[in-house]
Amino acid sequence: GLRCGIVGLPNVGKSTLFNAISNAKAESANYPFCTIEPNVGIITVPDERLQILEELVHPERVLPTVIEFVDIAGLVKGASKGEGLGNKFLANIREVDAIIHVVRCFEDPNIVHVAGKVDPISDKEIIDTELQLKDLDSVEKKLLKVQRSAKAGDAKAKKEFASLEKYKNHLEAGLNVRSLDVTEDDKEAVADLNLLTEKPVIYAANVDEDSMNDGNEFSKTLAEHVKNENTQVVLISASIEAQIAELTEPEEKEMFLAEYGLKESGLNKLIRASYELLNLVTYFTAGVKEVRAWTIEKGWKAPQAAGVIHTDFEKGFIRAEVIKLADYQEYKSEAKIKEAGKMAVEGKEYVVQDGDIMHFRFNV
Ligand code: GDP
Repeated sequence: GLRCGIVGLPNVGKSTLFNAISNAKAESANYPFCTIEPNVGIITVPDERLQILEELVHPERVLPTVIEFVDIAGLVKGASKGEGLGNKFLANIREVDAIIHVVRCFEDPNIVHVAGKVDPISDKEIIDTELQLKDLDSVEKKLLKVQRSAKAGDAKAKKEFASLEKYKNHLEAGLNVRSLDVTEDDKEAVADLNLLTEKPVIYAANVDEDSMNDGNEFSKTLAEHVKNENTQVVLISASIEAQIAELTEPEEKEMFLAEYGLKESGLNKLIRASYELLNLVTYFTAGVKEVRAWTIEKGWKAPQAAGVIHTDFEKGFIRAEVIKLADYQEYKSEAKIKEAGKMAVEGKEYVVQDGDIMHFRFNV
């Protein structure tokens, strides 16, 4: 599943948000979790299409997809040089698919700001710098390694060297790798490095409770500052999230949100933003035993999508039967859908669409 790392300076609201995530996971008690580390919170991805399918199919169980949040605390100024718990936690970031960068956008005289005042741009840049320095380290180490072969005339090493130099210059200019224009060759040269500033990022502007709908001057400054990056700024209020996490009934949650004039929680907004940023879509399998959601990347063909369920499904793929949710709603049962000619039979080249209900046929 999708793994997101939560980073940010101390006292910006990371733990509050992370605790909300950890509490929220209670909802998904029926999910077969493996044991998880204390700094990992797993929550289910809300999807109303699952409810629709549940009412149509009456399965024994419903399994939403999950998203993992890793609390990457201890990232402070100097982390790249081993300050604080820096290095250990930087290693954690290498394993995530996306970074959620929490930025303090609330005033509170009682809560100390590590830099003395609320300044989202400067906060963001402190974290960026630490990550850039770490990346620079990785790139320079590799440069040293390939330098010798490049000098000896090895063509591949020469190419790699040129690519690595490009990354080095960009990072030395104080820029994140994700904003560098790269070729396939460049990408290949750094593929083994798992660069931190190459990962997609979402900014979670932690605003005061009254600014959840429209933001405030801090969140607006932040949004303006990153508007040319391929990113999203999501408004959250860590304290509201903490309160929502205390509520157990969905109706209670809705009422609570409505009091603040909100349609959905900040957590939901973060999940949606992650799916959009990473180009993820969901398909479903629906049987009497289980209705289940699966996450794939937009553009994946049927065999690759089937591989998410089991590698055998991909290897032995024969064909896929595809139903659209609207047809399921209209005809109510698979038999009726078939009768109406609304079940499509698709081959290896079929690109799975968001919301497709799939049934795979395969050889074992
Ligand atoms: P972390 O160091 O980034 O993990 O920050 P914490 O989550 O521990 O938050 C630091 C302090 O700020 C705690 O006392 C929180 O209760 C408080 N805090 C977090 N989010 C908000 C918020 O949205 N508004 C206000 N006023 N306080 C907050």
